[in-house]
Parts: sequence; structure tokens; C-alpha cells
Amino acid sequence: MNEYLKHDEWCIIEEGFKPENHRASESIFSLGNGNMGQRAMFEEHYSGKTLQGTYIAGVYYPDKTRVGWWKNGYPEYFAKVLNAPNWIGIDVKVNGEMLDLASCKVSDFVRTLNMQEGILLRSFIAEMPNGNQIKVDAKRFLSIVSSEVGAIRYSVKTLNFDGKISFHPYLDADVANEDSNYDEKFWDVLSCKSDKGEGLITAKTKKLDFHVCIGMKYDVYKDGQKLEMTPSVTEEAKYVANTVEFEVRKGEELTIYKYAGVLSSLNHNKTEIQANAQSVTAKAYAKGYDSLLKEHVAAWASKWAHSDITIEGDVAAQQAIRFNIFQLNQTYTGEDQRLNIGPKGFTGEKYGGSTYWDTEAYCVPFYLSTSKPEVTRNLLIYRHKQLQKAIENAAKLGFTDGAALYPMVTMNGEECHNEWEITFEEIHRNGAIAFAIYNYIRHTDDKKYLEEYGLDVLIGISRFWSQRVNYSEAKKKYVMLGVTGPNEYENNINNNWYTSTIANWCLKYTQEAMAHVKKTNSGRFAEIMANLKFDFVKETAKWNDIIDNMYYPIDEETGVFLQQDGYMDKEQILAVDLDPKVRPINQHWSWDRILRSCFIKQADVLQGIYLFEDQFDDATIKKNYDFYEPRTLHESSLSPCIHSILASRIGDIEGAYDLYLRTSRLDIDDYNKEVHEGLHITSMAGTWMSIVEGFGGMRVSNGQLIFKPLIPKEWKSYSFKVRFRGNLLNVRVSADEVGVINEEGEDISLFLIDDEYVIEKNSSLVIERA
Ligand code: BGC
Repeated sequence: MNEYLKHDEWCIIEEGFKPENHRASESIFSLGNGNMGQRAMFEEHYSGKTLQGTYIAGVYYPDKTRVGWWKNGYPEYFAKVLNAPNWIGIDVKVNGEMLDLASCKVSDFVRTLNMQEGILLRSFIAEMPNGNQIKVDAKRFLSIVSSEVGAIRYSVKTLNFDGKISFHPYLDADVANEDSNYDEKFWDVLSCKSDKGEGLITAKTKKLDFHVCIGMKYDVYKDGQKLEMTPSVTEEAKYVANTVEFEVRKGEELTIYKYAGVLSSLNHNKTEIQANAQSVTAKAYAKGYDSLLKEHVAAWASKWAHSDITIEGDVAAQQAIRFNIFQLNQTYTGEDQRLNIGPKGFTGEKYGGSTYWDTEAYCVPFYLSTSKPEVTRNLLIYRHKQLQKAIENAAKLGFTDGAALYPMVTMNGEECHNEWEITFEEIHRNGAIAFAIYNYIRHTDDKKYLEEYGLDVLIGISRFWSQRVNYSEAKKKYVMLGVTGPNEYENNINNNWYTSTIANWCLKYTQEAMAHVKKTNSGRFAEIMANLKFDFVKETAKWNDIIDNMYYPIDEETGVFLQQDGYMDKEQILAVDLDPKVRPINQHWSWDRILRSCFIKQADVLQGIYLFEDQFDDATIKKNYDFYEPRTLHESSLSPCIHSILASRIGDIEGAYDLYLRTSRLDIDDYNKEVHEGLHITSMAGTWMSIVEGFGGMRVSNGQLIFKPLIPKEWKSYSFKVRFRGNLLNVRVSADEVGVINEEGEDISLFLIDDEYVIEKNSSLVIERA
């Protein structure tokens, strides 16, 4: 852990400059607007340790898979999230000397992420090696109103000298990825143009031909007065800049406003992209920093109005949940069906690709409750559009007749993750995609989705499961061999309880979905059956045989569901028995040792119990939780939230609270010592779940919402909002009461604790907690 950030309800604050924390801070203070994002690198030159990261949604690089021993079925490439040309750069010279925090004496350093307004701020005093002292104030944002626009306000005040200050605003396409081999570069620069007051750079990716064009314009003010400029212009092969120099007297302040228009060929015709970038940049410049900021802040206010969670009495918890919600809202805005939510969002390179099962298993519940249904619908349609590729993916692995295996990691529907145990074996992801359809429908009641898009995805997935199991004569049951469950600290295991459970559920739910479409739109049903060449009698007979005869490992003695066959043969030691120095074990132990141990990376059996909780009684849930929690190391960010929800479910409020802090402050306090690589964006949705579904006890059953709230003793009250079938509800829980305001929509009936109530529109209900 590394707790160097100040607690505050709306801001993340770093006081004092410690270069050893800079890379972590670059991740934590990242900005994004759904269309692009960047790490919190400095605007001015910095020669210390940094991970430069500017990312544009949907722009990636298919890096050829290179492995020692090629296995049939390997994907051709690994998709790299590309570090794109840098547009924030503003080098500063003070009397000819370059400002570089690595070589200055830095004091009064404060870096702030204002999450309420979506702004990154930084201020410091620097004493240059030449003795000149300056005070710098920097502020930047990526507009969530015009998602191709970024703006920076950067001020330098002279503290102890009269002299010259120059600004060098630039665009730099000579950028690399940290994860590239042999310093390979991924961009070809097509054109660099610079003129007085502006610059334009166009680059294309060496593969896939994504074009990116970035324009910049800027102004300089002295103590609020706009200055006439006579810039000198630099145009290099991959870099454009202007240089403007001004005389300043002690105590005066120079401010540069830099505007950038960042466009990609995902949204613009390549022949028009330059003209469009010029026009987007010019419009931003004409609108001006203050107006851009004003509309940006207003848009954030309306995002918060629907997604904020308040926690009274616990600043660390309040800050953390806002940080998680903020980062999710920065990463995905739900307007573009081609985009998805990468595990690191726009905050780092690790994980490559964009889409994991994380989206369906974790992000969907968050967006379902905090955004309009279209947002989740777009996430589902993203998978629908990739169905054909999922069928091809399954065919590559030997499956037939329209069986679909969605990739573990993808940009465009093709698998792009090349570790065999994940690519071939971590097939439970298919189940999460089916579950998300179910979850969307139970939350929104948009059953039409099934006939429009959902049913063929479900059938493809079920066809896969029905071929992936085989009948064991020895067991007289269907078994699922050679899989990796969610717990990636086990590979090539037989009968992972979670995978078999979700597979079986898919086979059942697909049949329910078929029955619904048949009943409500028989014409469309017939059409889908014909398109998919679905042999109803034969295929469903096989599915039902599997449903009735699936094998699930169980410990006969205790009745605990076993993560896999043979799990009890492992030496049964607990996480508390581990020397803290060897944690996280993935950074200290050989892979072989990890695989042989009983330690669990992330919720696995408990992931299944979480999803299908209504199938298990309280004693079963508790028994499994008590068995697995002590063996789980939570070395995947996706884990503590699920355990926190189940801890709340069994009434272990203290355990739930500890796990909540762990999930919510995972990045802010760097629990797993890896935040320098980027943030864990997708698990942030799990943090939201651990409040709303965990403490709030929200469930959907038979088309109705249920809340069974608990409250940690550290909190005075908490409140959250939930969209549900046209209603917007505001739920507030304190030690004594639970209140629900029906803010939008018609009258709604729901369960609060144990009783059913009707809350009329625009009114509220408060009941006492026992
Ligand atoms: C987890 C996976 C997850 C991936 C991306 C891995 O560490 O084990 O479940 O999909 O990270 O978040």
C-alpha cells in the first residue's frame, strides 16, 4: 500500500512532489471523456520517470503474436492500446533554462483531480538551477461536451527576477509504447504543419491505417491582458511547435491557453480529417477556455446528478466511491456502439485490447442503474455485432454448427489475447455475455431486445456449451474438462464449478428466451430459427439432457461447492498464513508454485454464488463464503467487490466494509502495488456494486426492486440513485431509516426490507429500520 493522497470528498489531492510517486499519480489523476483520455503527465518537459500515455478510443495496433511454440488456434495478434501523439506539451524556458521538475527545487507542489468538475490542476513553486523562482498553475480538461477537444491553462509567475520566459506549445507524434519490443514505433507521420499561433499533425498507425489528426492553437496573456505574439515556428519530421518569448518583471504572470482538436479516422473521412481538425480546433479557440470549461463543468454536474453516491461520516470512503464513479464516467459514455470499456480505460497500456468479460460481469450493472438503458443496450449490441466473429473463433477451435465463443479480449470481435490458458480455456466469459442480456432485460423490461438482437447471441453461446461438455461414462454425467475459471491461479482444470454452473444456466435461459420470442413474435422466431438452421427438437433435447445431468464438484464432507475437481488435494493453507512479504504472490512466486497452491486470485465459486444467489439458501451462501474468503488473495481487482457483496449478504458488515475499502481504494492506496501501470477501471463498477447491491442490498426479483440495506458503523448515512424501468429512485440509508424518493417516472411498487410498498411519482417513503 502507498497512502500518500489526502482524503477529500470531491478531490484527489497530492501534496509535495515525490518523483517516486509520479508514475502512480499519472495513473490516478488521469483524464478522459469517452472518446479520448490521457495520463496525468506534465505539460512541461520532465526528464524523470514517467509513462507517457495519450489514448484515443478505438485506435489500436495488432501486434503479431510471437511465441516460442505456436499452438493451433492462437490468435494472430495481440491488440495494443496505442500511445497516440502528445498534444498537451508546453515546454517552458526561464531565462533560457528549461523548466524540468527533475532538476529544480520544488516546493508547494499540489496536484488535484477535481472530480466534481472533471479538471486536473497542478501548482508548484520551482527554483531553477539558475536561481530563478517561478510559481506555476496548470489546469486542463478533456471536454465531455465536445469530445474531440482538450484545453489547458498554464500560468507562470516570476517570483524573484525580471527576465525572459518562453513557451513552446507543441504536438509530438514521435511517441512510443512502453510495451513495444525493441523500441518499435507504431506511427507513420503523414504531415506536420505549423504556422504562427497554430500547428497540425497527422499520423497513421503502421497497421490498420487508423489516421489521427491533431490541431493546436493558443494565446498568451500577461496579468489578464492578451499579448501580441511573434512566434517562431518549428516543423520537424514528427513534431511541430511554436516558440513565444516575453519579457517579464518580478511578480508578473504569463498565462498560455492551449486548445487541441483530436480527431481520428473512426469518426472522420481520411480525406477530410485535416480540414476537420483545423475547424474543431478553431471552434474551440473561438469559444475560449472559460466557455468550454463552463459547459464542461455543467455537463459533469448533470452526470453526477444521476450517478453520485454520497457517504456521510467517512471521507475516505466518500472520496473513493466518487473516484470510481468518476473514472467510469470518463471511460465510457455509451454513445458509440463500436466502443467498449478497457480494464485500464485511458490510463495505461497494460491488458491491451479493449473488451473483456469485465464489461458484462461488472460494468453492465453500473451503467444499467446510473445511465439511460441505451448505454447498456449499446454495450450489448457491440457483442451482437461481433457474433459472426465469435462463431469463426469457435470454428477455429473445432466447434461447429454456429457455436459461438466470444473472445477473452477483443477490439473488433477477433480474439487478441495469446496465452493459451486464457484464450482457449477461460471460456466462462461466454456465460457473462449471456447473463448481461438477462440482466439488461430484468432491469429495463426491454424484452423486445431478445427478438431484435439477443436471441441469436444466446443460441450461439448455448451451442458452444453443448459442444464443450462431454459425457463421462465413468461419472454418468456431463463434464467440462480443461478449463480456466475466473481464478486464473489455476489452469487446465476439470469441472470448474463456476463455468459449469453458468454454462448450465445459459442452456436454460436460452430456452426461456426462445419461448418468449416464439410467444410474442412467432414470425420473427421462425425467421431466427431458419437463419440459424436451428434444429429445435434435436438441439434442445441435447441441451436438456446436459441441464439434467451436469456434473458439479462438491466436497462431500462439508457440502462446499468445489472450485474444481481435486481442489481439496491441495495443501489447505490460508491467506493469513502467508508472509505479507510474498504478497502479491504473482510478483514473488513462480507460476508453477502458484498453480500448485490452494490460493485463489479472485472470486470464482463465489462469483457464481453472487450471480445465482437466488438459487441458494442462506446456509449454503455462508458456508461457501466462509470457506473461500480466507483462501482468496484478491490479486485481481475484480475480486474484493464480489466478496464484499456476499459479506453484506450474510450479515458480516465489518468484513463487507473492509472489502469495500479494499475495492474502492485499490488504486488510490495502491493495494496491489501496480497502479503505476494504470487504473483498474472495470473493477470500479464492482465498487459501485458493493455499495448498491452489497450495503444497499438491491436485487431485482420478479420484475421488482428489493432493497435490504445495511450500514457500516463508520457511516452516518449513504445515498445512491438507481434507474429502473423508467423510474429514477434516490435511496438514502441511515442507521435508523431508509428513505426512497421516486424522482422520475410513474408510481412504483418495490420491497423495502421485508415489505412491499407503492411509492407514487414525485413522492417519497421513509421507513424505520428495525
Ligand atoms: C483477471 C481477469 C480480468 C482481467 C482484466 C485479470 O487479472 O483475472 O478476470 O478479466 O484481469 O481485468
